[in-house]
Amino acid sequence: MEQIRIILPDGKVQEVPKGTTPADIAGKISPRLAEAALVAKVAEPNDGEGALVDLRRPLEFDVKLQILTDKDPEALEVFRHSAAHLLAAAVLDLFPNVKLGIGPPIENGFFYEFLRDAPFTPEDLEKIEAKMHELAAQNIPNERKLIPKPEALDLYKKTGQIFKCELIEEKAVEPTVSFYTTGKFIDFCRGPHIPSTRRITAFKLMNVAGAYWKGQEGNPQLQRIYGACFYTQKELDEYLHRLEEAKRRDHRKLGPELELFSVHDEAGPGLIFWHPKGGLIRKIVEDWLRDELLKRGYDLVFTPHIMRLDLWKTSGHTNFYRENMFGPIEVEKADYQLKPMNCPGHILIYKSKLRSYRDLPVRLAELGTVYRYERSGVLHGLLRVSGFTQDDAHIFCTPAQIEAEVEACVDFAFAVMKNFGFDKYEVELSVWDAAHPENYAGKPEDWQRATAALADTLTRMKIPFKRMEGEAAFYGPKIDLKLIDAIGRPWQLTTVQFDFNLPARFGLEYVGEDGARHQPLMVHRALLGSVERFFGILIEHYAGAFPAWLAPVQAEVLPVSEKFLDYAKHVTETLKRHGFRAHLDDRNEKLPARIRDAQLQKIPYMLVVGSKEAEAGTVAVRHRVKGDLGPRPLAEFVEDLRKEVESRVAV
Ligand SMILES: [Zn+2]
Ligand SMILES: [Zn+2]
Repeated sequence: MEQIRIILPDGKVQEVPKGTTPADIAGKISPRLAEAALVAKVAEPNDGEGALVDLRRPLEFDVKLQILTDKDPEALEVFRHSAAHLLAAAVLDLFPNVKLGIGPPIENGFFYEFLRDAPFTPEDLEKIEAKMHELAAQNIPNERKLIPKPEALDLYKKTGQIFKCELIEEKAVEPTVSFYTTGKFIDFCRGPHIPSTRRITAFKLMNVAGAYWKGQEGNPQLQRIYGACFYTQKELDEYLHRLEEAKRRDHRKLGPELELFSVHDEAGPGLIFWHPKGGLIRKIVEDWLRDELLKRGYDLVFTPHIMRLDLWKTSGHTNFYRENMFGPIEVEKADYQLKPMNCPGHILIYKSKLRSYRDLPVRLAELGTVYRYERSGVLHGLLRVSGFTQDDAHIFCTPAQIEAEVEACVDFAFAVMKNFGFDKYEVELSVWDAAHPENYAGKPEDWQRATAALADTLTRMKIPFKRMEGEAAFYGPKIDLKLIDAIGRPWQLTTVQFDFNLPARFGLEYVGEDGARHQPLMVHRALLGSVERFFGILIEHYAGAFPAWLAPVQAEVLPVSEKFLDYAKHVTETLKRHGFRAHLDDRNEKLPARIRDAQLQKIPYMLVVGSKEAEAGTVAVRHRVKGDLGPRPLAEFVEDLRKEVESRVAV
């Protein structure tokens, strides 16, 4: 019999008869591997890429072969795709008249689409989930079949599977069509799949959502059943826990509960109203930032919210940014534009006088409020809004200064993270597609120099980063910094973005050492992104329980009864005199109810005062997390709180 050569990942070669399957080879290597194997990856001996195939697919040529198990993230998609088939098999078993749409793997799980008159209820989902477990336990093989196209169409026509017929008509290019069966369920599918249903145990059906067939409005509406799915129950439990945590921390829920901010339909979508407590936190954030800007050599500027439309033509925004701009406003026959960005305003300030190389770098910073048109469907609490205030700055410098400027920006970004209690991050460097310089503004040497400055700075600062080839905007390379929050979610925060376009469009200049005029380099940079977005991230990171230095109320004073109101007032006033944010709860409510309210408001300290405390000049301290801390002299509490606020620790 004809032999083929199988090259294994460790470089060993096996000579086996043609038609041997990856499953056979796994069995030869070890029974453990055969048991753990989910899918195989084959590649031509001289080709790196490779493709995933079923373990039972006969091998016909010399190949490089890799057996994938649940240690391989690549196999997870196949695993989840097989879980989608299991879902469809279970649904068909319980509701034989449904029409099938598509069922791909997705992030964290899978979905499958069904056409059915009645909506799937939560009880239906429970039944379906139970049926999936039942079928999984039966260890039903996922088998691949090749069927001639007419026969395949016939098969689906007979069972009334109209969507599948449509897909075969559109997608089947070869005379035969690839199918996978799981028991009675048969699906037009390219695969591959895991060998059988047995391993699919860690899943949960999450929800049902309407979706137009092929995502096109006007097409029939199908019901998509979504499921979460992992290799192990532990991973699934962790995922479900993360979801619960995310729900608990959702700033859209905490915002109104803690009286931080609101959004009003009467005012318009995506427009934020900062309430007194949110406003106070904003003040603290902005004060810190402004002080830091001045310390770091920035100049603070303010620019108007509307400017002539012509300015936005010069900048090019009316071309490449039109989609995100509100329509123009006509005043005295001239069109004005609500600003979507602060850059042109800062450029006008730069251009207001002739700059010499000795004036550079010029660093103009503004907490600049901008308005961008976002479709209402994509708005999301504080994170995606139509009006927001960027902590924006533009740096104009000479080529010799760029490395130092980039380093200073990155250093500033890290100071922001540290100050607000974040210590994990990811950094991406987006560069151009060098094969297509014609798609970009600026000269190739500008790109090379700026990209090198960004990359070298990160390397010198020992900051690991991911290089994103071809991901840069047309006008320059950039660094993006994402912080990782308390539950491991990444949030886009800082951007340091070069711009070779605007200096040219506005004819920016400086007089160099040689006496000649040169074009300065321009960098846009935002550290928080926007104060709205940053506030949303802070709320979710701390789940609304802000550290004492940020908390809008740091101590709630609670008299045991009316009799101790005078002493309670004295405590409150003393704290205020020391610069703390104290609040007296003198409502005519029982003490436990008032403690519960302060607890729900996530106020760091509750100070209970009654006869003992009034006599001794103490406060009974209760912390929102640590609970009762016992009595303490008022002066001592003041001193401890001062230390806690200064250290900015999160307790
Ligand atoms: Zn499939
Ligand atoms: Zn800008």
